Amino acid sequence: MSNIIELLPNHVANQIAAGEVIQRPASVVKELMENAIDAGAKNVQLIVKDSGKSLIQVVDDGKGMSDIDARMCFERHATSKIKVADDLFNLHTKGFRGEALASIAAIAHVELKTCQEGQDLGTCLIIEGSEVKSQEKDSMNPGTNFMVKNLFYNVPARRNFLKSDRVEFRFILEEFYRLVIAHPNIGFTLHHNSKEQYRLPASTLRQRVVNIYGPRYNQRLVPLEEQTDIVCVEGFMCKPEFAKKSRGEQFFFVNDRFIKSSYLHHALSGALEGVVQSGLHPSYFIFLTIDPDKLDVNIHPTKTEIKFEDEKAIYAILRSTIRKSLGQYNIAPSLDFDTNQDYDVSPLLKKSSFKPPKIVVNPDFNPFDIESPSEKVKAQANKDLAFSTRFQHARAEVTQEDQQPEDWKSFYQVEESHEASNEAVSPRLFEELPAKDTYQRVVYQLHNKYILSPLKSGYMMIHQQRSHERILFEKFQSSVEKSNALCQQLLFPQEIQLPQSDLAILKDLQKEIESLGFDLGEIGDEKVEIHGVPYDTPIDNIDAIIEKVLEDYKTHTPSREEQVNQIARSLAKSMCIRTGKSLDQKEMNHLIDELFACEFPQSDPNGRPTHITVSLEEIDKNFT
Ligand code: ADP
Ligand code: MG
Repeated sequence: MSNIIELLPNHVANQIAAGEVIQRPASVVKELMENAIDAGAKNVQLIVKDSGKSLIQVVDDGKGMSDIDARMCFERHATSKIKVADDLFNLHTKGFRGEALASIAAIAHVELKTCQEGQDLGTCLIIEGSEVKSQEKDSMNPGTNFMVKNLFYNVPARRNFLKSDRVEFRFILEEFYRLVIAHPNIGFTLHHNSKEQYRLPASTLRQRVVNIYGPRYNQRLVPLEEQTDIVCVEGFMCKPEFAKKSRGEQFFFVNDRFIKSSYLHHALSGALEGVVQSGLHPSYFIFLTIDPDKLDVNIHPTKTEIKFEDEKAIYAILRSTIRKSLGQYNIAPSLDFDTNQDYDVSPLLKKSSFKPPKIVVNPDFNPFDIESPSEKVKAQANKDLAFSTRFQHARAEVTQEDQQPEDWKSFYQVEESHEASNEAVSPRLFEELPAKDTYQRVVYQLHNKYILSPLKSGYMMIHQQRSHERILFEKFQSSVEKSNALCQQLLFPQEIQLPQSDLAILKDLQKEIESLGFDLGEIGDEKVEIHGVPYDTPIDNIDAIIEKVLEDYKTHTPSREEQVNQIARSLAKSMCIRTGKSLDQKEMNHLIDELFACEFPQSDPNGRPTHITVSLEEIDKNFT
């Protein structure tokens, strides 16, 4: 019997292995850039031609390689990053499997120039299809320069499988963004077909994002920050009103490595439920730092999935971080999108002191004439910090020129003289806003649709219907959370005839509907009897309200957790003050007060803006 098993020659084995690591030019970009970062480079240049099909070059100023290492690095399983299996549990580098360069060398023409700091001469090595063609000494700057030409020249099937230049370049950009966002402290450039595409100097993360996506982003970014024993969360998300139709700008990094995680994404979307318009995707750049031994190390270097030991805790921490930050940095959308405004200020914190303003105020207009300012501030601050911060951002500016006495105006001027530290609870909110009964701001209704409110710094335009939807939606949400929905019992139960299929849905949703304040009697085969409705519900409209809940459920069947939210959204929509309704001063003022007492006043429950602010500068610009 003849033997038929043979060992594959090295270059064939490498070529087969290459298929796993290198699928397209973008994979080479990723591997070479990661190596440059691992080598401690401060500056990395990426140069590509024909979307990487003819050239991918990465030049770094990292630690370089010795003559022998320059040859060794192309061997399979040749790595300087781990020595024993235990090192896997304490990984701080991007690569560790020692496969990338062996794979690349098997399927391309590679030229490597590398020199270590302090050496007069470096090495220049040429390798084609795993075969070393030449190795020479040459003078060069410290660092490493890899040129990868004619990718897949010896694997025609792979080469034919490549997509158009446009698509392949998009893949390259995707890898480029992931790395440059993960490492803002390193300078990067990208040239394509001799044209400079990006020049990104070493900077902060905020600056890096702005350098990539444009100055508009400076205003859109909301900082995220949370430090716990399990995980540290940092980074930015874009304000919900700038959510996009495509998913492009969504980045999670774990220990500076880009990862894809539908689980974490779910935590984030959950936190934004009712804030981002459905169908749109929020942008985010979120960094999680976790002890490496709390991660599943069995990860393939080209794969971006990851497993956490404390998955549930991380989910909950991420979710609460996002909600907290949105609450703290809740800023009204402005038409003035292009100004460079830095929101990177710490939110106001509890337990802080402030210097009372040195100013004498007419006591008639002083809301503190009963309690001393500090007591009032302390009491209020203890009540709800998030609320006060929001309140201050959005509402403290609301002024009323006509009825404003001289002394009142001085309250506004006092603002700058406060020496409240970053950690101080500013008393300004309470000073600026008079007690409601002594002061009514004058506002104007436009076309029975918008409420116009003058601000110290311009004006605010409020969409009455959307704002009221937001108010009702949050009231319903809060009554479910606190299980204290107020039910108004009907004198005569109201019968609603419905098709059997609708009644079946109603049965399914009964618990959720009742948690919002309804009292449904028995649900029969033909009808349901309504015994009670949420407090404030217009009684003559109950059947339409129930029908709307059912209709919304049928057009978009939500997951179990989202059911209550969806019903709350439907109810808010059918019960809110509509466009077309004329409102008096008191009603408008009440609406504004209630809107800015909301957790997310900037958008309606479907994520559409409830109000905009226009700055004085913006107005002035139109008169120049
Ligand atoms: P890995 O990154 O998994 O170790 P690679 O095949 O990507 O495997 O690289 C092999 C080795 O070559 C690395 O461990 C490193 O020591 C060396 N190397 C690769 N690129 C560079 C570079 N740009 N600068 C310095 N050393 C490098
Ligand atoms: Mg590597």
